[in-house]
Amino acid sequence: MTNTKVKVREVKLYIDGEYVESSNGSTFEVKNPATQEVIAQVHEATKEDVDRACRAARRAFEEGPWRTMSPAERSSKIRRMAEIIIERKEELARLEALDVGKPYPVALEKEIPRAAHNLKFFADFMEQQGGEVYPMGEEYLNYTRYEPVGVAALITPWNLPFMLTTWKLGPCLATGNTAVIKPAEVTPLTVSLLGEIAKEAGIPDGVVNVVQGFGPNSAGEFMTTHPEVDLISFTGETSTGKAIMKNGADSLKKVSFELGGKAANIIFEDANLDKAVPTSIQAAFMNSGQVCLAGSRILVQRSIFSEFVERFKKAASELKVGDPQDTQTNMGPVVSEEHYQKVTSYLGIAEEEDSELVYGGKRPDLPEYLNKGYYLEPTIFIQENPQARICQEEIFGPVVTLIPFDMEEEALEIANSTEYGLNGVIWTDNLQRAHRVSHDVRAGTIWVNCWFVRDLRAPFGGFKKSGIGREGGHHSLEFFSEAKNICIALK
Ligand code: NDP
Repeated sequence: MTNTKVKVREVKLYIDGEYVESSNGSTFEVKNPATQEVIAQVHEATKEDVDRACRAARRAFEEGPWRTMSPAERSSKIRRMAEIIIERKEELARLEALDVGKPYPVALEKEIPRAAHNLKFFADFMEQQGGEVYPMGEEYLNYTRYEPVGVAALITPWNLPFMLTTWKLGPCLATGNTAVIKPAEVTPLTVSLLGEIAKEAGIPDGVVNVVQGFGPNSAGEFMTTHPEVDLISFTGETSTGKAIMKNGADSLKKVSFELGGKAANIIFEDANLDKAVPTSIQAAFMNSGQVCLAGSRILVQRSIFSEFVERFKKAASELKVGDPQDTQTNMGPVVSEEHYQKVTSYLGIAEEEDSELVYGGKRPDLPEYLNKGYYLEPTIFIQENPQARICQEEIFGPVVTLIPFDMEEEALEIANSTEYGLNGVIWTDNLQRAHRVSHDVRAGTIWVNCWFVRDLRAPFGGFKKSGIGREGGHHSLEFFSEAKNICIALK
């Protein structure tokens, strides 16, 4: 792959079935993180634009037909969106690679198909749902209905823009709600296309709206304080979750938060290292470590520590860091200059904390056209103190810490010592230990001898500061609907 000049796209807002410019003409630039070339001029939604989007969503909700149409008809339109995504998967994957800096094959083979699956899964799932009937003898009949809540604000981060937005949009639409979506300002490209995809699939105008902009005092805040918004599904940083909760408090909005993580990946001495090493490499460096579920703290039993370190280091050195558009690339840059500064600041912090640098820690050697990219080698530290900042804080980049431990109890104490509780990973061949440790790690998802395996029927969310609520399967039905009880006197 060579450095082909990319055209600068104009990204507009999608409001009430039309792509429109910002009402005050203001735009911002988006850059390719591999080269710093400008790839898009994005219209920034003003308060008036967000207001129009929220009102359009409200009108589409109240007036129908989306809310009142049969689940079968609604689901067939959502399934059509999924089909269009598959038909356009190469284009969407190219854009995701360009915008986020992730390797094109990962976007093409994993994330874009998963985005289509998110929509199809929830269309199928919600079509199958009914209510409950509670017989009360001859006097009364008691039953429930699950009704849509109203207008949902769907706010997503930059690491998996299209996949995470469809994860929210699928259940939101399939339960009959309408949506105002805001992607992260650094990665607006693929999500902006959801407007035309919805239109082509026959989704009525106003049901899906996409606004662009920033967080505080911009589109994000305007959405989360808007009186027409009934519920907020947000994925992003824990600190942003706190701000959104405060902003939504006055109008008592229903919230679902998927927030930060700092997963412990625990390798016991009886683990199968032929599987544990390559999977731990994936868990540490996939998407340049910019994954909320990343196994960013690797806890290794001391008896196998040296062997693990050697094998892990060798596997890291074999990762090909390079141009995201190149099909041979395993790892691209991090997403933006601001994020690069944050991630690389941890190199200095690690040094101050006397961490041992095992591998990486600098810019990789790359072809000249990538010289301005936000690249960092896969970086591995050893740190004996689990309270060190690199063991506690979410770095969200290609930086992983290896921590030795002696006993199972110690591993558990370290695993549970952060403020996060999104997920955990356990490697052992001992069945009792696998169950025991799974029960005692305080996190929403535990993977034993695997990582990143998802079934969309299962609950997804975090303990502690990693989130509020669960989504997935009937958990999404509960969040995106209001359960109503109807009691009828029969005599
Ligand atoms: P941020 O919290 O910075 O941003 C997420 C979204 O919220 C963006 O669209 C952002 O807009 C918007 N936003 C920011 N401030 C506000 C505000 N005050 N009101 C409303 N919206 C606001 O997260 P990042 O984009 O940096 O993503 C990385 C984070 O996401 C990590 O902490 C990661 O762990 C977490 N994450 C969690 C997942 C999970 O399932 N638990 C999955 C994936 C990521 P803008 O970008 O314009 O500032």
